[in-house]
Amino acid sequence: MRIEEGVELARFTTLGTGGPARAFARPESDAEVEEALRWAQERSLAVAVVGLGSNLLAADDGFDGLVLKLGGELATVEVDGDVLRVGAGAANAVALHRARAAGLGSFEFACAIPGTIGGGVWMNAGAYGGDFAGVLERALVATSEGSGWLTPLELGLSYRHSELRHGQVVLRADLRLRPRPPEEIKAEVRDLNKRRKEAQPTNRRTFGSVFKNPEHELSAGRMLEVCGLKGHRIGGAQISPKHANFIENADGATTTDALALMAEARRRANDQFGVRLQHEVEFLGELELPEL
Ligand SMILES: Cc1cc2nc3c(=O)[nH]c(=O)nc-3n(C[C@H](O)[C@H](O)[C@H](O)COP(=O)(O)OP(=O)(O)OC[C@H]3O[C@@H](n4cnc5c(N)ncnc54)[C@H](O)[C@@H]3O)c2cc1C
Repeated sequence: MRIEEGVELARFTTLGTGGPARAFARPESDAEVEEALRWAQERSLAVAVVGLGSNLLAADDGFDGLVLKLGGELATVEVDGDVLRVGAGAANAVALHRARAAGLGSFEFACAIPGTIGGGVWMNAGAYGGDFAGVLERALVATSEGSGWLTPLELGLSYRHSELRHGQVVLRADLRLRPRPPEEIKAEVRDLNKRRKEAQPTNRRTFGSVFKNPEHELSAGRMLEVCGLKGHRIGGAQISPKHANFIENADGATTTDALALMAEARRRANDQFGVRLQHEVEFLGELELPEL
């Protein structure tokens, strides 16, 4: 396995921003992940994984550690009865396609989540009433100490959250699904995609929801809309004119631009509603939002 230096993370994030990783590798098997973790440990380097980078804001000055992008055996999908055995590097779309072909439902919620299985487990990604916690039976997680299977409880899955930390690499996951006719799955996916297209910017460079929905009668998006932030722009980044909980790369955005927009959005929501919005997007590198 080749370890590259200075690979630009902007190539691996859907927003298209982010500076270089000190080291970058593409392991294709459990053994290669173990090798990469050992390599990093010998150099006291932090390790992070990028999936599809669809929920990732990477610092403009990059990440001072080893970044892994899983492929090969770690991106395969197999059907075993009602269980989908998926490599963490597999895209949700590929897993859903295989599930549908096998007549297995319950993963339809992931149709418009443009990530990988590993990113979905890490974030407990979800939509339209479903989430990973609802289908995940167990996930195989590697660290420099070895690897082991963890249940959703052990992973600490809750709303868009797990207890996983950098240095823990999700290698694969078993999803327990339910038999459902493929045409019903297809119809539901069509309906969910249509709803998504109507409400959110689907043809722009974004990283999905910026903030988690707060415990409040208004969603984060609606709150920021009431604050008058739709279309608000800093540098090359703008708050989506279609949905205020999305930031778009309008024209040559940097992570600094996106972070400044997030800080402004949090300040306004706090001033107007007394709500401290928590970011849903994951940070990679030295990134911090100012205190409110
Ligand atoms: C248009 C759009 C719509 C979206 N809609 C939704 C939605 O409806 N619901 C939702 O929940 N999310 C949504 N998202 C956000 C995103 O797609 C999900 O959070 C997704 O699960 C992230 O997966 P990823 O593979 O892209 O992870 P990344 O963004 O690459 O990484 C996210 C985090 O997971 C970690 N990670 C990734 N893979 C692994 C692994 N194998 N082992 C250990 N850590 C790992 C990363 O280090 C990082 O901390 C949307 C994004 C976009 C762009």
